[in-house]
Amino acid sequence: MEIVLGTTNAGKLKEYRELLADAPVTLLSLADVGLADMDVEETGETFTANARLKARAYAESSGKFALADDSGLCVDALNGAPGVYSARYGGGSLDASGRCRKLLGEIEGVEDRSAHFACVIAVAHPQQETCLIAQGICEGTIAQEESKGTKGFSYDPIFIPNGYDLTFGDLDVEIKHQISHRAVATRKLVLMLQAFVADEGKDGL
Ligand code: IMP
Repeated sequence: MEIVLGTTNAGKLKEYRELLADAPVTLLSLADVGLADMDVEETGETFTANARLKARAYAESSGKFALADDSGLCVDALNGAPGVYSARYGGGSLDASGRCRKLLGEIEGVEDRSAHFACVIAVAHPQQETCLIAQGICEGTIAQEESKGTKGFSYDPIFIPNGYDLTFGDLDVEIKHQISHRAVATRKLVLMLQAFVADEGKDGL
């Protein structure tokens, strides 16, 4: 089964290739299907709505099954912000480190630093309305400062997953791949894909 990975985010692309390495699917990049520059605007107000609309757009444009996700960091003290706006938090002029510093500034002195990463993955069928949806959450806390580690991407240097003392920027990538929001959602998705292929997709896939 061929699936187009509908993301222009290099960090996500790398993680999905690693997370789905053992799944019974052939992964194609947007470049592989001539859509390297295709970005889909996230107009939804929920992770699910955005994942679904992106997967649908990539499936229709490529004529193949397409996977897209929407994910973000939700901070309790900020009523769930930046949430679906994580990638755009603080405006277009900030880089990843700038967004981390802005967030740290917003909750400076706040005692409850609980937060979670959320991820919703959608896989859209090229010819039908069918869309598989899988969700994952990773609970943790926001660090007092940006860690120096160079692993991960974006908010990873300020997120400490529950049960660990280090941020995702410092922890081994294997650990992130076991416990991250994206890993949890991907494991669920693989089971759904296997069931889909067995039940309905025999002819179409
Ligand atoms: P989108 O799903 O393309 O809208 O982007 C989600 C944004 O949430 C990313 O650009 C990051 O800023 C943030 N994000 C999602 N997952 C992670 C993660 O695993 N580590 C760090 N930041 C993440």
